[in-house]
Amino acid sequence: MDKVSIITTEDYSPYLLDSAVESHFQLLGLDSFLHPGLRVTLKPNLLMKRTPAEATTTHPEVVAAVGRALKKRGITDITLADSPGGLYTVGALTGIYKTCGMADMAQREGVQLNYDTGWQEITTQTQRVTKFNIINPVAQADLVINICKLKTHCMTGLSGGVKNLFGCVPGLQKPEFHYRFKNADEFSDMLIDLCETVKPAITFVDAVVSMEGDGPSSGNPIHTGLTLCAANPYALDVVLCRLIRMEEKQALTVKASFERKLALYYDDIELVGDSQKINSVANFRMPATKSVDFNTRLPNWMQSAANFITDRWLVPKPVIHRNQCIGCGKCAESCPAKTIALHKRKAYINYQNCIKCYCCHEMCPVKAIHVKRSKLLSS
Ligand code: SF4
Ligand code: SF4
Repeated sequence: MDKVSIITTEDYSPYLLDSAVESHFQLLGLDSFLHPGLRVTLKPNLLMKRTPAEATTTHPEVVAAVGRALKKRGITDITLADSPGGLYTVGALTGIYKTCGMADMAQREGVQLNYDTGWQEITTQTQRVTKFNIINPVAQADLVINICKLKTHCMTGLSGGVKNLFGCVPGLQKPEFHYRFKNADEFSDMLIDLCETVKPAITFVDAVVSMEGDGPSSGNPIHTGLTLCAANPYALDVVLCRLIRMEEKQALTVKASFERKLALYYDDIELVGDSQKINSVANFRMPATKSVDFNTRLPNWMQSAANFITDRWLVPKPVIHRNQCIGCGKCAESCPAKTIALHKRKAYINYQNCIKCYCCHEMCPVKAIHVKRSKLLSS
């Protein structure tokens, strides 16, 4: 039976986090994965330049505590690596490490920050994708430790253990996957292939302060006071759904992992640690996009017409609030359909080509892109 550990972690104090990480290691028997001499890569969520208080990225103190636990076990070759949204360059990484608090943390804790922007092609035996380009520090590690942030996500519903691994794909190769897998279910199924390729040994969740609403970058921080951990990222995501009261079918990576029989149902997962805390989080606000979900209840013969109507008129669309737009071009850079243009330092979307992937919404640094529900669905 897969185990998932939950530990009360009220804030980011190092002593609380050290104690929480040690509890996770003991409860899950994680020491069996670890021995001196291993080359370990820590994979946090560093989506964009945001401060730790904004709850968009993994808090540096959680990464620090995992690093200290590894050092205690004689592991000294520890690298922090992620390919954030946008460009994967030394300049972009430097800015993100600094703003996200990772630069200070790494210097203090003796963790190496990755500046190698190369990647390796890895051939897979997975269902949808035959090869992935994976950033070097992840491809070359003996062991990958995934350290995600608990967030809602406009496209996939949940950003947990599986979704966090999308940052193993280098830079602007990520929008290419959005374009290749335009349908959110297919995209989420591709993420399962990616998870099967990266195979993180351990996944930690920073749910001390999480993000609710229009995540992964435009939601609101919410104090949830927990850390979670598991060896199986699929089981972990099932537990995250239960924690935030999200229906499993709305978390598309969870839905895909059930379809592939990679995840156990919630009742078959053993919760250890402060398991009663599974009922501690109330009223988690869902993303605006999680409102269109009736097509699957229609008979098969009605579904293609219903899908057409849904795509055309009912799927929430990204809307740019031009008074907030600073003309940085990040949305256009990350748009897989190349359907955003800048005019006089303001961004404009040509909706004819928009595939509703919400990458633009995700990458806008000033939250100028909102996800707007159809008037037909607004109450
Ligand atoms: S405009 Fe935004 S939602 Fe539409 S395809 Fe481009 S990035 Fe995706
Ligand atoms: S909408 Fe946001 S990301 Fe796009 S140009 Fe304006 S500020 Fe930049």
